[in-house]
Amino acid sequence: MAQRDVRIFGAGPAGASLAYMLKKETKWRIKVYETLQRPGMKPCGWAVPKEVEELVPIPPSAVLTTIRRVRVYLDGLLLYEFDVDGAWGYVVDKPKWLSHLLSGVPVEYRRRTPEFNAPQGSVRVIAVGHSYPKAPKERINAVQSWLRVSSWREVDTIEFWFDKNLVGYYWIFPHTSERVDVGVGGFKTFSELRGLLSSFIKRHPVLSSGEKINEKGASIIASGLERELLNPEPNTYVVGEAAGAVFPLTGEGIRPSIMTSRALANALQRGTSYVDEVDRMGLFFSMKVHRILLEILRKVKPEQRAQVLKTMKGEWVLDFALGKFTRETLRAMLLNAGPYSKALLSIFTSVLQR
Ligand SMILES: Cc1cc2nc3c(=O)[nH]c(=O)nc-3n(C[C@H](O)[C@H](O)[C@H](O)COP(=O)(O)OP(=O)(O)OC[C@H]3O[C@@H](n4cnc5c(N)ncnc54)[C@H](O)[C@@H]3O)c2cc1C
Repeated sequence: MAQRDVRIFGAGPAGASLAYMLKKETKWRIKVYETLQRPGMKPCGWAVPKEVEELVPIPPSAVLTTIRRVRVYLDGLLLYEFDVDGAWGYVVDKPKWLSHLLSGVPVEYRRRTPEFNAPQGSVRVIAVGHSYPKAPKERINAVQSWLRVSSWREVDTIEFWFDKNLVGYYWIFPHTSERVDVGVGGFKTFSELRGLLSSFIKRHPVLSSGEKINEKGASIIASGLERELLNPEPNTYVVGEAAGAVFPLTGEGIRPSIMTSRALANALQRGTSYVDEVDRMGLFFSMKVHRILLEILRKVKPEQRAQVLKTMKGEWVLDFALGKFTRETLRAMLLNAGPYSKALLSIFTSVLQR
């Protein structure tokens, strides 16, 4: 059978996973272009929920820690603690994982390709993340530090620290008992976030004595997936964060990016529409709900923000964060959201009907 060319621009989770999905079929001649010297080098917390394994495998050698407990703090006090049977997810060695997905695929590294040229008749896939010039412009910024610590006891626990004065959160993701990734994301400048992160680390009993290995920052798209961006012209597709595939409330972008690649692989294999495949995954709806709530949280007073988080039923928090809800479960969840439930429900109902 004659082979068809696929040019993938960007070797992040979206590009690498698409290459992995397509390389199983001999009909594709794949070529990947990546600006950096290795895949997975852009700033990222490397945490993924276990559901990502339904899309692509994670080899054991790429798992830094298996996450079995999730803690959520508000203004320094523990709000929720979730112990998960088995695993909630993983902190992965992203460069190792993506290299595994790309094994056997020709990749040209250190190749910046702003023109995204591809031979006539080939499939062109833009997977360059937030640097795509046509990507949505609404962003939050995030800054992260890797710290060497003498002994981190709970390597199976990730923590999210909310502060009512910040629309965003701090995270602590352990890599080993001696290396921890700490970061903060929100609607602030990079220099403000660096200051916030530095005070957060100083206040922490263990992190404060850690040694900083590196500090990096990058922006994250915060407006959700844009339907119009996915298939701008025949044979050209946009996957991952370049199309806005990041959950706006959490900044979780790895799994949704891979979901768009799964949708595109399905479309190319079945001859169906890419946009319809994405729609079937429910991503437009869940991202829209996240975006609305983020808009509300930006507008309300800090005390109201704290109240919304406090009154959300604990067992729903994780599913909601991951976008695992339907219209019915969302309605039930909002009805239980304490004093703001009626107001939230009416805003959601009117916006979702648009
Ligand atoms: C500080 C921070 C922490 C985060 N933590 C998490 C987390 O813990 N979990 C999570 O799920 N999400 C996290 N995210 C979001 C997540 O990193 C991204 O949403 C996800 O990596 C997007 O995947 P992608 O493949 O679409 O794009 P990217 O990962 O951005 O990959 C795009 C690739 O394209 C390359 N590229 C760019 N321009 C070109 C070009 N012109 N030609 C060729 N190649 C090009 C880039 O070098 C890059 O390797 C975080 C983001 C930040 C900034």
